[in-house]
Amino acid sequence: MHTEWSWDAPRGDMERSCARALELGLPAIAFTEHADWALVHQGQHPVDIEGYLDAVDRCRAAFPDLRILTGVELGEPHWFPKETEAILAAGPIDQVLGSVHSIHLGGGTLDASQFRSREGIDFPAAVDEYFREVLLLVESAQPFEVLAHLDYPKRYWPDGAAPYREKDYEVEIRAILKAAARSGRVLEVNTTRGHILCPDLTVVRWWRELGGQAVQYGSDAHQPDKVAEGFKVATQMVESAGFKPAKDPASLWRR
Ligand SMILES: [Zn+2]
Repeated sequence: MHTEWSWDAPRGDMERSCARALELGLPAIAFTEHADWALVHQGQHPVDIEGYLDAVDRCRAAFPDLRILTGVELGEPHWFPKETEAILAAGPIDQVLGSVHSIHLGGGTLDASQFRSREGIDFPAAVDEYFREVLLLVESAQPFEVLAHLDYPKRYWPDGAAPYREKDYEVEIRAILKAAARSGRVLEVNTTRGHILCPDLTVVRWWRELGGQAVQYGSDAHQPDKVAEGFKVATQMVESAGFKPAKDPASLWRR
């Protein structure tokens, strides 16, 4: 999840998120803050990694019964290898997520959340480009372990369009999963704060079939009251796809 150390989480609160995790009986929590450099949301949004790590230390001291994992969600790290390297050199990071939020299209750069509002955009072409970009990310040598929300554009699917179906992107998604399995990566099941599973069961089944070893889920919460939202349904889903809880770390499920 995200806290006040992520640029897009004005209601984030690391301390209260820890308290909420204990209230829910979670054994662990991971704070995976955004590090974004693509110029789509008024400038770059790197993370103050030193300040963030200090805040984690304070929470670890205040909540000794909760296992607190450090993390970062790298946005398009394959476009920003130097910036990525600097972040990862700053300290021990337990959870390194790699994400694609943005694509290059028509001479500009835009986030998938802007696909439906941008005038004159070719939506199907944008989605194709999104999956192409995810494949480039996974095939890159960037040092991230977890592939985050691989079908992120489905959160922003236009109302008038034919509904999102994994089948329509099977070739693209399978290529991504194969590359991710080959490089020993973990597939994230993002519950979008309880709204929508990214990805859903079809993709998790393909992942297992293609040799994927582990899945991990994240709430993508940006505020304390969304901690672990959607985890029950995510649990049912990953179990039905054949994964079992791993001993360590708490959020990982293995074959
Ligand atoms: Zn993300």
